[in-house]
Amino acid sequence: MTTGARNWAGNVVFSAEHVEAPTTAERLREVVATAGKAHVLGAGHSFSRIADTTGTLITLRDLPASVEVSADRRSARVGAGLRLAEVATLLDAEGLALHNLPSLPHITVAGAVATATHGSGDRNGSLASAVRSLDLITADGGTTTLARGDDRFDGAVVSFGSLGVVTSVDLDVVPAFEVEQRVHEGLPFEVLAERSAELFAQAYSISVFTDWRESFSPWVKRRTSDAPADLGWTGAREATGGRHPIPGASPEFCTRQHGEPGPWHARLPHFRAEFTPSAGDELQSEYAVAREHTEGALRALKELGPVISPVLLVSEIRTVDADPYWLSPFQGRASTAFHFTWVPDAHAVRPVLTLIERALAPYSVRPHWGKLHETAPADRYEHWSRFAALRDGLDPGGKFRNEVVDHYFPG
Ligand SMILES: Cc1cc2nc3c(=O)[nH]c(=O)nc-3n(C[C@H](O)[C@H](O)[C@H](O)COP(=O)(O)OP(=O)(O)OC[C@H]3O[C@@H](n4cnc5c(N)ncnc54)[C@H](O)[C@@H]3O)c2cc1C
Repeated sequence: MTTGARNWAGNVVFSAEHVEAPTTAERLREVVATAGKAHVLGAGHSFSRIADTTGTLITLRDLPASVEVSADRRSARVGAGLRLAEVATLLDAEGLALHNLPSLPHITVAGAVATATHGSGDRNGSLASAVRSLDLITADGGTTTLARGDDRFDGAVVSFGSLGVVTSVDLDVVPAFEVEQRVHEGLPFEVLAERSAELFAQAYSISVFTDWRESFSPWVKRRTSDAPADLGWTGAREATGGRHPIPGASPEFCTRQHGEPGPWHARLPHFRAEFTPSAGDELQSEYAVAREHTEGALRALKELGPVISPVLLVSEIRTVDADPYWLSPFQGRASTAFHFTWVPDAHAVRPVLTLIERALAPYSVRPHWGKLHETAPADRYEHWSRFAALRDGLDPGGKFRNEVVDHYFPG
């Protein structure tokens, strides 16, 4: 008998028999030690079955919240179950910031790190790239800390809950900064395809939203201390009114546009933290290719436009810096990521994913683990077998294995 719990989008009904929400660290260790099978659920914002288990689904939402800034103010130790919006508010009050944020700040710190969740920016790595160390409860209820420099660390940061329960992470922080956001429209596809490197270099964080037909719309987030962005040469023009990433949708819940300066956490996400959607009427996928393949991937996707657009709400193109994590989509390569927000119809969307994955295969494409995908071939992750060995060492009885882990790391 399952609990019937679902993810945010409603497309995953978890197979768990129990949900546990411990209120103390001691109780959490006890829950882990006595569970047959277990997995942690963050905010449930993944679209894949990556958080699923047939045993005990553990949520950290009732554990005491904590953010402790280090004496040198270069790092902060953060409770794993905190939402990014909560962490941002606490850090900002200390005059500090995370280097970047994804489009929505409602997800948990550990959930974001576990899937290499990212925003945009040529020199901005995913949130996982800010992790200095993490505290982990392993299958027997024991605790261990893995830190940068430890030979298991690069395998443990992006590991989608398959090594144990992360209870806190120590994150790099930077002095708080101000950002202004301007939405542009009418970017010609050929300019994007031929000069994407110059375009994305124009500001701290740039996303290009598209329908893969005619509309290419750069959202430019500039640190106010940086030089002004110049998109004049691209042919794109600044939008005259507020915009939502999905053309025609109300911009009411979007972060401020038109160049009005604001704190980092109120401009880097596209959506305002005060707006909390309880359930999503959409599905998502995302694929990363090495930066040098951006033009090839853009042209391949544009060609698929006629099959993509009937099931698409909107697509977003971002740049992400390289990281060293064995299972990260960005491992060893500065990347361009192609995101798709789909209509909530998995049967209609899945065949399109197969076509996209086929079209991007020549570019050694890697999917976002938290979003829908059909395949993630092992040969695209050079440390794949090292990860399986790490997993077997930390979780010999397979407590944290689930359908996704078993599918990709059989045996
Ligand atoms: C509207 C929306 C917008 C999004 N925007 C972006 C975006 O801009 N960029 C991007 O990259 N992604 C984006 N995503 C995807 C999302 O960020 C990821 O799927 C992320 O992993 C979700 O975090 P979560 O807290 O909901 O974790 P869950 O989805 O609940 O879990 C994700 C994984 O983390 C593991 N996990 C969670 N907590 C722990 C823990 N304490 N210890 C060990 N493992 C743990 C889970 O077991 C699971 O494997 C978006 C999703 C939605 C719904």
